[in-house]
Amino acid sequence: MFRASILLALLLTIMTTNAVAADKARWAIAIHGGAGGLPHDLPAAELERIRQALQDALKVGSDVLRAGGNSLDAVQAVVRIMENSRVLNAGRGAVLNHEGFAELDAALMDGRDRRSGAVAALRHVANPIDLARAVMDHSPHVLLVGDGAEQFAQEQGMPRMPSDYFITERRRKELEKTLEAAKHPTHTASIPWQPVGTVGAVALDSAGNLAAATSTGGTVNKHVGRVGDSPLIGAGTFAQNGVCAVSATGQGEYFIRYTAASDVCARIQYQHKSLETAAREVITELKAAGGEGGLIAIDANGTIAMPHSSATMLRGQASSSQPPEVVVEVPQ
Ligand code: ASP
Repeated sequence: MFRASILLALLLTIMTTNAVAADKARWAIAIHGGAGGLPHDLPAAELERIRQALQDALKVGSDVLRAGGNSLDAVQAVVRIMENSRVLNAGRGAVLNHEGFAELDAALMDGRDRRSGAVAALRHVANPIDLARAVMDHSPHVLLVGDGAEQFAQEQGMPRMPSDYFITERRRKELEKTLEAAKHPTHTASIPWQPVGTVGAVALDSAGNLAAATSTGGTVNKHVGRVGDSPLIGAGTFAQNGVCAVSATGQGEYFIRYTAASDVCARIQYQHKSLETAAREVITELKAAGGEGGLIAIDANGTIAMPHSSATMLRGQASSSQPPEVVVEVPQ
C-alpha cells in the first residue's frame, strides 16, 4: 500500500513536470503573403517560388521559436526572408507606384511593452523591417518616413540600394497593365488595389510573449508618398501580451479608417470574444464598408485565426504541436 502510494506520487510528479515543460515549450506562429487574388496567368514556376518563400519564412520563424527565441525576433526574421524573395509585395519585388518605382512601408510591435518601430515611403532600403526594428531599438521614435527614414538607415550603416534593385519584370508589366486599365489619375475615389504579396507574421513564444510584423510595397499605381495601413500601429500591425497580435493585408485605406488590427484585440479584451469571432467580425465589417482583405491573428494561448474576405490570402502556420502548413491557392 505504502509502496503503491509512493509510486503514484512519483508518477504524478513526472506527469506534472512534463506538463509544465510542455507548456513552457509551447509556441505558435502564423504568416501571410498577402490577401487578394493571384492572376490566373501566373506561371507555375512563379507560383512555386511564392510557395517556397512562404515555406522558407515559416521554417525560419519556427526555428527561432523552437530554440526558445523571442517572438519579436521570429516575426522580424520571417518578414526579412519574404522581403528578399523577389516574388512578394515587400522589399525586393514590391509593387510599383504611379511613377514606376517601389515605395516601402513596414512595422513591428512587441506585445510585452507595446514598443513599436515603423518606417514608410522608403525607396532605398533593402529590408524595411530591419529599419523598423532599428527605429524601435535605436531611436526614441515609433515612425520615420521618407528622406528622414533613409537618412536614419544610413546612420545605422544600412546600404543605400538603387531603385532598380527593387524592380522586377512582373511588377513592371503589372503597372503597365494597371495604367492602361485605369486611364485616370490615382487621386480619384477608386483606389486601385491589385494584390497579392504584402507580408506579415504574428507569433507567440515559449515565454508567452506576442509580436507582430508587416511589410509591404502598398498598392499598385499608388500616388507617390501614399502610406498604407501596414506601418501604422493599430491599423495594419498590433501586438498586446495577454490579448492578441495581428498583421493585416488588403485595402489599406479601410484598415486605417477602422483601426482594424487593434480592433481585433479590443473585442477580445473588452467584449471577451474569442480570437476567431473577433477577427472574423472585423473582416466582415470592413467588407461591408467596402474594404477587402484579411488578417492573421494569434492569441495568448497560441490559437490562430486567418479570416479573409478577398478571393484568397497566402498564408501559413506552425506551432509546437502542429506541423507547418502553407496555403497558396489560385482561386478559380
Ligand atoms: N495593406 C496594404 C496597403 O494598403 C496592401 C496589401 O496588403 O495588399 O498598403
